[in-house]
Amino acid sequence: MEKRISGTTGLFTLLGSPVGHSGSPAMYNFSFQKQGLDYAYLAFDVKKEQMPQAIDALRLFKVRGSNVTMPCKSIAAALVDDLSPAAKIIGAINVIVNDNGKLTGHITDGIGFVRNLKENGVDIKDKKLVVLGAGGAATALQVQCALDGAKEISIFNQDDEFYQNAEKTKEKIEQAKPEVKVNVYSLSDQAKLKAEIAQADILVNATIVGMKPLDGQSLVDKSYLRPDLVVADTVYNPLKTKLIEDAEALGCTIAPGKGMLLWQGAAAYSLFTGKEMPTAEYQAYEQ
Ligand code: NAD
Repeated sequence: MEKRISGTTGLFTLLGSPVGHSGSPAMYNFSFQKQGLDYAYLAFDVKKEQMPQAIDALRLFKVRGSNVTMPCKSIAAALVDDLSPAAKIIGAINVIVNDNGKLTGHITDGIGFVRNLKENGVDIKDKKLVVLGAGGAATALQVQCALDGAKEISIFNQDDEFYQNAEKTKEKIEQAKPEVKVNVYSLSDQAKLKAEIAQADILVNATIVGMKPLDGQSLVDKSYLRPDLVVADTVYNPLKTKLIEDAEALGCTIAPGKGMLLWQGAAAYSLFTGKEMPTAEYQAYEQ
């Protein structure tokens, strides 16, 4: 490292709180070193109310780019100079690119989701999706799937503060892509959930159910699944949720959340460097 960092090394950052658990510094520094790029990546614990100062610091220190994580994704979107089309619709960003002082915000979670499907042999075009959830991950992937040509998206959420997000997402998607049909239902309507899954190509869990400490739980009764259904999850800890295990046991094509995480990071890396991230090498190194 002492040979790698010099007076010309460009900086990339992660902003959010907490950030201590993040795998991003290891992944990006590995990739910079592998590709001989004179960059370094560091995580900074920044609270929401400190974001205006943090964004000023990106400009002051000519930081080349930054990831943004919870709880700062929405405030960051309001502080940058420009937004990608998906970020404009969603109103949240996880990537900032600094082009000589002009900061552009992007959101790569949905891009990572769609790429993860593709890596598992599934094309989003003309597909009907059932998506459980209306939080950050759910909204990002719902919008990206609509932009990338999905035919219909049925959103199910429990009756909590996120439910109205689903209604807003429906409005925004129908404005940006009127040809995409979006339906919003309560998760408590199990008959509707069963009927919608029966007509869907892809089922996605984008809630925190299945993630520790809710591991071992699934929002979908096994009997609603069938072998030709594609089943995806945004949860990556554990690597296989109960939903993914149930689907795998039935012979469904599965797309667990770890792949989405990898590919959203790889999409950010391409925005940062203009290069493909050495994902295969990193996966081999990580194991
Ligand atoms: P969020 O807090 O924004 O949204 C939480 C969602 O879970 C809401 O829709 C809420 O209604 C739902 N929910 C909470 N408790 C529930 C319950 N008991 N029953 C049914 N629904 C419930 O969270 P988020 O940031 O969208 O994250 C959701 C999951 O996606 C997390 O596991 C997160 O780690 C994961 N995630 C993965 C990636 C990736 O790249 N793989 C990216 C972002 C988030």
